[in-house]
Amino acid sequence: MILEFPGGARPSDRTRLGKKEIEYINGCSATCIKAESDRELVCEINRQVLRGTLIGRNGETPVYSPIAGIFRGVMTLEGIEFFVVTADGSEGEEVIFAPETRPLNELDFEDIKESAKKFGIIDTRSGIPLWELLERAHGNCNRVVIDGTETDSLSAINYRLSIEQAKAIVGGAKILLKASGAIKCVYAAEYYRSAAFNAIAEYATDEKIFALAQLDEKYPYGDFALMYALYVKKLNKNQTALDEGVLIVSPETAIALYNSMISGMPQLDRYITVCGDGIKNGANLCVPRGITLRDIANTCGGLEDGYFFAEDSLFSGQPVYGAVYDTTHSLITVNPEERIPTDCISCGECAEVCPVKLLPSEVLAGDGRRLFGHCIGCGACEYICPSNIPLLKLINKEAKK
Ligand code: SF4
Ligand code: SF4
Repeated sequence: MILEFPGGARPSDRTRLGKKEIEYINGCSATCIKAESDRELVCEINRQVLRGTLIGRNGETPVYSPIAGIFRGVMTLEGIEFFVVTADGSEGEEVIFAPETRPLNELDFEDIKESAKKFGIIDTRSGIPLWELLERAHGNCNRVVIDGTETDSLSAINYRLSIEQAKAIVGGAKILLKASGAIKCVYAAEYYRSAAFNAIAEYATDEKIFALAQLDEKYPYGDFALMYALYVKKLNKNQTALDEGVLIVSPETAIALYNSMISGMPQLDRYITVCGDGIKNGANLCVPRGITLRDIANTCGGLEDGYFFAEDSLFSGQPVYGAVYDTTHSLITVNPEERIPTDCISCGECAEVCPVKLLPSEVLAGDGRRLFGHCIGCGACEYICPSNIPLLKLINKEAKK
């Protein structure tokens, strides 16, 4: 059975990158990891670091250098603060970490939470440190969901990870089940991703614990859409899946947890798709965490003039500045000249795709503040609008007035 949610948009264009294996990119000129307001520096500025050296903390979550080079401290780029490391030609030199030697069945919630913290693992779906998610989930959670859907029909990174790293995804899911106390894990992806389902099924053999969920090919799959499709549960604007006892993480988070537990190595890399007409060689990549967009563009043969990178989807995709963020799963090239807004033609398509049954075009009559009260920010209306009207951005803008 194919599961679906109300509203949502069906993009006309599917990814052309599903068949491309993930390429591993070790070197880059610099890495920039977002520094939160409660950050602290642990490493001296201008000191030489290895891949894996502790350079700082965001709150209680350690931040490690993803490359060997020189730690430059916290720098501001386009108004955002980052921990910056620049390469110095000593590529490949890394800290040696000790692997976890205790078997999983001897680890309890505190052990796994502390490991997730020590490894600096961030859930790349929510951007929240995994140890914090586990703390919230522990004792309040009955399901773990591995969200194998893409952020946009042009992206293929979760599909490739599901095929290439199925063992680590299932291994990570088992650790998450143990830590959260949940009784079942669901792997969910678009129904036509049969190679991904087959790869996961090879390792997720215990049907009492694991289930596979085939989802409609609609976007975007945020908490609202997934909870409705899987459990026919309607979240309100301020609720998350965890409020309803469901811990949803990305495949990458499960992989990071599993690999860190095996190797003792913190989360130093990210997985992304780079795609769209403005890039010469679209690719699925494993890159150092916080790699710069300039390095990404160079790796992929250069960014065409006039294009910029949008994060994750053309639905609500914001331009990305400077570097790959912890929540970026795909970089999609956008040409602003192809999206020049024209007048509303009253086609009603924006209302048709709205999962919470709003009339998004009412923002044009100055009703943005009321819409904002119910809007879940999915961006489907903005994506579908044939007049290229940035409806979600207008709703958010009106609400701030
Ligand atoms: S109004 Fe909000 S909830 Fe409705 S489609 Fe637009 S962004 Fe999504
Ligand atoms: S989709 Fe765009 S053009 Fe159509 S009614 Fe909505 S705002 Fe107007």
